[in-house]
Amino acid sequence: MSGEVLINLTPMETRVAVVENGVLQEAFIERSRRRGIVGNIYKGKVVRVLPGMQAAFVDIGLERAAFIHVNEVVAPDSPQAEPASISHLLHAGQSLVVQVTKDPIGSKGARLTTHLSIPSRYLVYMPDSPHVGVSQRIEDDAERERLKTLVASGQAELADEQQGGFIIRTAAEGVGREELLADIVFLQRLWLRVAERRISAPTPSPIYDDLPLFVRTLRDVMRDQIEKIRIDSRENYFKLKEFAREFMPTVESCIEYYPGERPIFDLYSVEDEIQKALGRKVQLKSGGYLVIDQTEAMTTIDVNTGGYVGHRNLEETIFKTNLEAATAIARQLRLRNLGGIIIIDFIDMEELEHQRQVLRVLEKALERDHAKNKLTGVTELGLVQLTRKRTRESLEQTLCEPCPTCHGRGTLKTPETICYEIFREILREERAYSPETYMVLASQSVVDRLLDEESAAVADLESFIGKTIRFQVEAHYSQEQYDIVLM
Ligand SMILES: [Zn+2]
Repeated sequence: MSGEVLINLTPMETRVAVVENGVLQEAFIERSRRRGIVGNIYKGKVVRVLPGMQAAFVDIGLERAAFIHVNEVVAPDSPQAEPASISHLLHAGQSLVVQVTKDPIGSKGARLTTHLSIPSRYLVYMPDSPHVGVSQRIEDDAERERLKTLVASGQAELADEQQGGFIIRTAAEGVGREELLADIVFLQRLWLRVAERRISAPTPSPIYDDLPLFVRTLRDVMRDQIEKIRIDSRENYFKLKEFAREFMPTVESCIEYYPGERPIFDLYSVEDEIQKALGRKVQLKSGGYLVIDQTEAMTTIDVNTGGYVGHRNLEETIFKTNLEAATAIARQLRLRNLGGIIIIDFIDMEELEHQRQVLRVLEKALERDHAKNKLTGVTELGLVQLTRKRTRESLEQTLCEPCPTCHGRGTLKTPETICYEIFREILREERAYSPETYMVLASQSVVDRLLDEESAAVADLESFIGKTIRFQVEAHYSQEQYDIVLM
């Protein structure tokens, strides 16, 4: 298998596509304005100590001074001791290395801590802590023990004088020794760089910020089968090269600048594939299709044969469609980054052997997924259930918002339904207020219907209440929206 990473950079947005054998498999998208400063480390300067609040203001070079509470200040000599008073720990003018825990909002400055931590894919490095801990969300005791031992021994093996502890993140579950060691090396190199800047950098200034998406992605998706990385920004091409040289030397030679005339995401139809990954329906080559529905509780995937299928080869056609669907589903889960419970409704198959083969193909295809997933069984109704680890937002959550017109239902009330709602509402108003006339403001399609198909009903209603009803199109109203004005 051959893999390629395409990186599309604009000032507003970073998009990364992972293509395997010419087919888009994963997409990562990040908008610049959503990136806060949480996690960034600054060399700051204490500007004011507030003994009454047991807190201090620290200038970290932002518009507003940031805030730190005494509990977030590591006492240099005795980290385990009783919380000291802020005025013993800090004084105005002192320089202080801090990490942002909360973004500034409105008139409130950022919140800070001096308990520093730097995350990588599987680990979080804490220079001031001596411990190795495991995320609570890894529940299996044997797995917790395995990870702890691996990290502790890896650290002992690699570190010369380096101190500090690690938290093993949930994503590390099931991950092998090599990958964990690579993460430890990565973090130690990164920390050395921060430690240097801690001394050399001016005050106030940033000394560490979370890696930009294209660099993080490189770190996270880089695997043996990736042969080429193309990036369409010259400036960031050099940055990426530099990062690779320092942290992932074997990768450096794979990185290429893409100056192409065609947009980089036109390669392998990546742009089209991203658009398609937002739709409910996925067309299969065999003529069948998938329907994917994402709800808060779970994702359901329905497999369908396309159109008419001759009854002679029915079982065979269904089998083929299900096989194709199994591969397509695994790809869609990755591409859309769907997490949580996933229920697949394959087309019913008579033959047990066919059922087994479809499941095997699905399992095989899921093996290539880097998010942890698990086939949890086949229900009595033949539904296949699996779980996939939720990592970041799904593609849809990143790119879309609930439709304000249908409020996420996916369907709208018909103009007919709205007309009848309007009639009922007029009767209700009539009883309550009995105004002189009524004016109905509604969308074009609803007014059209009132004046055409429903005109007889309108006439009946007018004679029943003994008043005229006027209609007015409100061009910006959605189909379900209307107002009844009493005059
Ligand atoms: Zn809608």
